[in-house]
Amino acid sequence: MNTIAANLQGVISRIEKSAREAGRDPRDIVLVAVTKTFGPDAIRAAHAAGQRDFGESYMQEALEKIPGLADLDLVWHFIGPIQSNKTRPIAESFAWVHSVDRVKIAERLSAQRPAALPPLQVCIEVNVSGEATKAGVAPEEVRAIAKAVSRMARIRLRGLMAIPELTEDAALQRKRFASLRELRDTLNRDGLALDTLSMGMSDDFEAAIAAGSTIVRVGTAIFGPRVR
Ligand SMILES: *Cc1c(COP(=O)(O)O)cnc(C)c1O
Repeated sequence: MNTIAANLQGVISRIEKSAREAGRDPRDIVLVAVTKTFGPDAIRAAHAAGQRDFGESYMQEALEKIPGLADLDLVWHFIGPIQSNKTRPIAESFAWVHSVDRVKIAERLSAQRPAALPPLQVCIEVNVSGEATKAGVAPEEVRAIAKAVSRMARIRLRGLMAIPELTEDAALQRKRFASLRELRDTLNRDGLALDTLSMGMSDDFEAAIAAGSTIVRVGTAIFGPRVR
């Protein structure tokens, strides 16, 4: 078994273990393999080992890779910052976008989503740790944006995404993930139907699963450290 296949198997085992410990069905958690900075060979190796969902955070880099992998049955997730003048290639090339943080971005994605493709699956990115430098919507602003996005024709609003601050403090980590889940539950009581919590990366996906994550986005633990 190559390194990527072995790492992938290790991550899947850890996902299954955390799910079982939380009394959850491991099949309710989707692993997105984050391939930013890694080339097509790494993606092909992960695909050969059974991986289907892949995440990219830099649009230009993603657009250079995706066409050359069109022979594989991959599900592409855009998880990075979105510039409003760069929405069209995202609407055309991805199945999911996790990082919507403005109504205007969602409007453009909906307008530009090709009619031949199913609706774009969208999460709203929330700034759960309140860091000024972090991307994402402030928790108190999510409701208005979610209501607007949920009405857009070519978008299916699936849920919320967050990237909490890096911390060794396990209690703080749990608190951040729990706050995203509580926000999702509040919105659902308020009439939305959000089934997705995109939270958890290489260093914290087990805590995220314990808190209810349905999508974990894992790069380093599968592909090794990124050089840039
Ligand atoms: C890079 C990235 C990840 C994966 O991070 P790792 O720590 O390598 O697992 C997850 N989510 C987003 C938004 C990223 O940019």
